[in-house]
Amino acid sequence: MVYLTRKAEFAASHYYHNPDFSPEENQRLFGKCNNPNGHGHNYTLEVTVKGEVDPRSGFVVDLKQLKEVMHREVLDAMDHRFLNKEVPEFFNKIPTTENLAIAIWQRLELKLQKAKLHRVRVYETQDLFVDFYGEND
Ligand SMILES: [Zn+2]
Repeated sequence: MVYLTRKAEFAASHYYHNPDFSPEENQRLFGKCNNPNGHGHNYTLEVTVKGEVDPRSGFVVDLKQLKEVMHREVLDAMDHRFLNKEVPEFFNKIPTTENLAIAIWQRLELKLQKAKLHRVRVYETQDLFVDFYGEND
């Protein structure tokens, strides 16, 4: 089994807010990300797929297809967007990096053909990232 990772960067803004919490509690919990006009981050995405090396191509996955799917499903949909208002997964869900990793996994899993998704890693900053390995892990 070989694991292959492709990296991409995107920028997006978000608003963390739970209407069940008081304004003070939202501010305490979410800080800068509780700004109603949005708060921006430069995200780094790493998508890892796994599989056997195809003896004919020497590849584990069609690299072009992986790149196209990542661009279409993630970057085109999320880069320079306000996640709460422009990405349907977050119309009713707080777009934390945790939820972002899950949403990206779900988008990619449906579209990847031969490649088997292993891990979605989303860096919110250089020092903070989230890993998601799918629901079965
Ligand atoms: Zn933020």
